[in-house]
Amino acid sequence: MDWNHIPKIELHCHLDGSVRPETIIELAKKKEIKIPSYNLDEIKEKLIAPEECDSLDEYLKRFDLPLKVMQDSESINRITFELLEDAVFENVKYIEIRFAPVLHTNGGLSQEEAIKAVEEGILKAEKYFNIEANIIVCCMKHLSEDEAIKTIKAAKNSNCKKVKAIDLAGGEDEGFADKFINAMDYAYKAGFHITIHAGEAAGWKNVIDSIKKLHAERIGHGVRIIKNKDAMDYVKENNIMLEICPTSNVQTKAVENIESHPIKKIIDYGIPVSLNTDNRTVSNTSVGKEISLCSEVFDMNTIDFLKIYLDSVKYSFAEESTKEKLISIIEKNYPEALKYR
Ligand SMILES: [Zn+2]
Repeated sequence: MDWNHIPKIELHCHLDGSVRPETIIELAKKKEIKIPSYNLDEIKEKLIAPEECDSLDEYLKRFDLPLKVMQDSESINRITFELLEDAVFENVKYIEIRFAPVLHTNGGLSQEEAIKAVEEGILKAEKYFNIEANIIVCCMKHLSEDEAIKTIKAAKNSNCKKVKAIDLAGGEDEGFADKFINAMDYAYKAGFHITIHAGEAAGWKNVIDSIKKLHAERIGHGVRIIKNKDAMDYVKENNIMLEICPTSNVQTKAVENIESHPIKKIIDYGIPVSLNTDNRTVSNTSVGKEISLCSEVFDMNTIDFLKIYLDSVKYSFAEESTKEKLISIIEKNYPEALKYR
């Protein structure tokens, strides 16, 4: 089944993991950047993570190549525009794009300039296409707390209206939250929303810690809470949304295989979820593919997906006016979905 008719919302999508392979080759040639190959098939092979990696860390190695061509404003701007174009093509109406500005400073850009380049790409795409987008700025877990604070300051000083939230991304250690308490406190006090990658490569305790110690309102992945009832209850009681990315979760070994993915159990437990790609290129997926997968494996139907999108609007970091607009799009197309609000 083609799921293009459903208006979609995506809340967890990394910019550097969603670059068109053709664009990497074009930009490398244009800017004379050395990349391992200029052949499309070979580049795809290097970019797309295997169906099962050894670990999250192996999956994350796929980002080195796209980052090589994302070190100037023009390229970042173009890549952002193209991501929105790809999203529009599958009827995504609202998307939150995340990226780590500190990874875009090798060519002399400041973090603020990198953030502005993403915002410009979004503003341009919004003029051409029927889509809205916001930015989530990622701090990297492998860097120090001071580095995280620098990134949050850049997000604040950029004055970019599209920057709505701060995230912690990258490889996951047990107990990482303790390292970032001051940084996330700073982000919270600066008025940013907070979502944290947790319970992906390490255990459910990280999910609880991210909510308790880091002000997380949403959790990236969080699938490991399925192993502990108290963690499930804690997430539910605190009204936390899990940003679920099924294909990526299989690739990074966050779950054993798609059949054992807990998305359905989490929804049935009463925890709100969103359905996302994580990385369109690295995971070789799209929102439509993730929908198809859930429909095939868990027998989810149009109404199940619309419920997910209504929750996605509610827990999104969008302005109220955008939320109202998104609800009315769903209402217009699927009035029957509204009884689940
Ligand atoms: Zn992610």
